[in-house]
Amino acid sequence: MQIIIVGSVAAGTSVAAKARRNDESAEIIVYEKGPDISYSICGIPYYLGNEVDDLSELIPRDKKWFEARYNVKMNINHEVTAIDPVNQTIRVTDLSNGAEEEETFDKLVLATGANVTIPGYVDSQMKNIFPVRTMEDTRHIDTFIQEVDPKQAVIIGGGYIGMEIAEQFTHKGIKSIIIQRGSHIMSSFDPEISFRVQEHLQSNGVEVYTNEEVTAVHQDESHLIHAVETRNGHRFDADIVILATGVRPNVTLAQQAGLLLGPTGAIQVDKHMRTSHENIYAVGDVAESYLSITGKPFYHPLGSTANKMGRIAGDVITGGDLAFHGVLGTGIFRVFELAVGTTGLTEQAARKEGFDVEVLYNLKPARAEYLNGKELLIKAVADRKSGLLLGAQAIGSEGVDKRLDVLATALHFKAKVEDLFHLDLAYAPPFSTTKDPVMYTGMALHNAINRNRPLLSPAELVGKEDDYQIIDTRSKKQYEASHVQGAQHISLKDLR
Ligand code: FAD
Repeated sequence: MQIIIVGSVAAGTSVAAKARRNDESAEIIVYEKGPDISYSICGIPYYLGNEVDDLSELIPRDKKWFEARYNVKMNINHEVTAIDPVNQTIRVTDLSNGAEEEETFDKLVLATGANVTIPGYVDSQMKNIFPVRTMEDTRHIDTFIQEVDPKQAVIIGGGYIGMEIAEQFTHKGIKSIIIQRGSHIMSSFDPEISFRVQEHLQSNGVEVYTNEEVTAVHQDESHLIHAVETRNGHRFDADIVILATGVRPNVTLAQQAGLLLGPTGAIQVDKHMRTSHENIYAVGDVAESYLSITGKPFYHPLGSTANKMGRIAGDVITGGDLAFHGVLGTGIFRVFELAVGTTGLTEQAARKEGFDVEVLYNLKPARAEYLNGKELLIKAVADRKSGLLLGAQAIGSEGVDKRLDVLATALHFKAKVEDLFHLDLAYAPPFSTTKDPVMYTGMALHNAINRNRPLLSPAELVGKEDDYQIIDTRSKKQYEASHVQGAQHISLKDLR
């Protein structure tokens, strides 16, 4: 059997590795148009901010290593330019010399990833506006920073990558300005959680402008941008501009081959990662996912999912029956002292889906206060009808990742809120509290839903802390009030 894989970062290399583990005799050929393979894109911001010393640490495997380890033919600098789905062939160009060839496949896997959305005002001659996606992008940014020593960056886009770059540039002494088109940064979170992030960015010297859209850039005769202009007529000076504008699935080949795309614009796949052609599979950022809570198509391009999808496709094409279970939209990032994460549905998303929503804000120390446990906020969303947990967002300076992963696990197994209380979670004072914040979250939601105990205001909580220790929906109202009055953010104190 001849297996051809197009693309060799997270998803493509996972396909190759799993296929080889399952089948020693298959001929596996990988084509990658870039010079690097199997690198950690996720580490790019940390390299740019000098938390990673050497770029090679993000590229632990090269072509030679991969070929020796997995017995595959790894063709770097080779672009697949066309697929003939009827005759099951592909056309490939060797980018080092322009030579073209045709290759036949029994199984073809598209792992072509995603492309950064490039706004119309960008042209290829501009020297200091950069997407952040590949190792080549990273090398270009790195060289520019070393040569020009920029003092101020405009980061277009307030999503995960915008946050990480702003943090790392600030550490590097580059003043960062984030321009966000929507009403709040981190649009996959509820607004009041995003506002906390915004407040934290601002307290660390990052400027954040929401409801603003860059419409033009101003460059000098040597194609260096020195300012950007926004729809509202504002102008921001910039020595370097970062495009954190989001990504789109790279479906060029799929479209040319007539494969079906899903409503998100990514390639439609079944649970075995098979496309509308029985011998063509799609994995990673190019493939459509689905939200396991609703069963609906969902585009959530993450390295964690890409690796998973790759393993599943590698298994299935070599006779296995692994199946994809969907995603919860789980994501986490660090911004200065805060870790911020989400899993499952936000309140906004749950309401949109028509659930009878119960919401709670749970502010607890992440571990024993007498050991300096820091405050952790969990906002959790449940369905009043079924008692099922629907989602959670967490923010704090410690303990966020483990709570988020426990909640994601609970969501994966379709836990009811009362189940959270019964979890046998690890406790010792340096790590948690006797009842972990996750357990409190379950207890309070369970009380609110099943015993019809209203979520109490802080004043009403006095003397009942054991039962509740929660912050009621008042905090939401406070957020809304402060927002309506034009305040840009609310502080942790306001939420008490
Ligand atoms: P890609 O990594 O995009 O790889 C696709 C490859 O296909 C590319 O190398 C491309 O050159 C090649 N290719 C495309 N077309 C062709 C063709 N026609 N012929 C040959 N080769 C082709 N995810 C997380 O889970 N956690 C994180 O913390 C995180 N941080 C991130 C930080 C940054 C700065 C960025 C940019 C992304 C981050 N991600 C993170 C997302 C994660 O990196 C991606 O989801 C992951 O790289 C997707 O892997 P992939 O293999 O599907 O696609």
